[in-house]
Amino acid sequence: MSPDCVFVLDHYNDYISGELDSEKVTRVEDHIRVCPNCEVFLGRAAAVHNRTVGLLRIHAPASLRSSISSLIEKI
Ligand SMILES: [Zn+2]
Repeated sequence: MSPDCVFVLDHYNDYISGELDSEKVTRVEDHIRVCPNCEVFLGRAAAVHNRTVGLLRIHAPASLRSSISSLIEKI
């Protein structure tokens, strides 16, 4: 594993969530163009991230929220 592979592993989460500075983004993107392993890893990690973010956008039905609020008020 090269130092650039380690760099990708150390920063992939911030890269995927858009929290990496532009210099580091460039380093990640330059590396994945020449390293198929990191390209595949980053693609899979991004897919998991996107699915997770999608799940967080599911809202509970109003009836469920109302039931939970009623239960909380009884406490
Ligand atoms: Zn690599």
